[in-house]
Amino acid sequence: MKIYEKAPAKINLSLDVLRKREDGYHEVEMVMTMVDLADRLEMEELPRDTIIISSQAGYIPLDEKNLAFQAAKLIKERYDVRKGVYIHLNKKIPVAAGLAGGSSDAAAALRGLNRLWKLHIPIEELKKLGEELGSDVPFCVTGGTALAKGRGEVLEPLPAPPQCWVVLAKPPINVSTAEIYGQLKADSIRSHPDTGKVLEAIRNKDFHMLCDHMGNVLEEVTLDRYPQVQQLKQAMIRMGADGVLMSGSGPTVFGLVSRESKVARIYNGLRGFCKQVYVVRMLT
Ligand code: ATP
Repeated sequence: MKIYEKAPAKINLSLDVLRKREDGYHEVEMVMTMVDLADRLEMEELPRDTIIISSQAGYIPLDEKNLAFQAAKLIKERYDVRKGVYIHLNKKIPVAAGLAGGSSDAAAALRGLNRLWKLHIPIEELKKLGEELGSDVPFCVTGGTALAKGRGEVLEPLPAPPQCWVVLAKPPINVSTAEIYGQLKADSIRSHPDTGKVLEAIRNKDFHMLCDHMGNVLEEVTLDRYPQVQQLKQAMIRMGADGVLMSGSGPTVFGLVSRESKVARIYNGLRGFCKQVYVVRMLT
């Protein structure tokens, strides 16, 4: 039997760092939502007790460094599953982009293997397992829109944000999340987003208020190191996007656009200097 599971990309409508904790993690406050750009996982049981990962994308690890592999290993160990699995990752989400592609693959593997092996693990337990794989994995297990606190694992579900078009653009550089967090000086951040206003905008479905208050403290580090990300932001604003922000640690920048008539102009304008441009919707 083969089963399929979608692994959507996430974007941060806001990302704030409150402080660096003693355990080395950062205490965050993030508003995250999913968009309909997704990897697709194909999972099939193997008679041998082994985990095999393949992908059409030549640039991701296929061994135990792959987060889907780690998810399968964890679930097998914890629930004493003595069967194997073959997981094919059809990657669509750009890698090391700030879109949580790896975390979403891990979450999809947890959901999929729960079904494939009929383990009946409750969703809260799957999220707990996800926590062991990465800070964004618990959010990716449930998806939707949420306020994430702690190191990202304390989740409060939110209503869907006001509907709009989302234009994603990834410049041709890969950014390491660990490196960007490593360079952030948590006690001297220049400007924090007003997360309360972002939440209010979402609850009131106020598109312009959302655009006005989106913010990401990691821009301070990434934009400084990679000026092309700053240029991309400016280009999107110039082309008429209503709100523009970097997602996660970057380098992907997204623009929220309310009018369909503007979307093609922005897409075509960006394609002039950026190969990876996508027009998507938020998943509600
Ligand atoms: P995040 O914002 O959660 O850090 P990201 O979008 O910046 O994620 P990913 O696409 O998850 O970054 O990739 C980060 C690194 O993880 C890559 O350099 C890659 O080698 C590794 N990786 C492990 N598993 C996967 C996977 N299934 N898909 C993509 N990358 C993976």
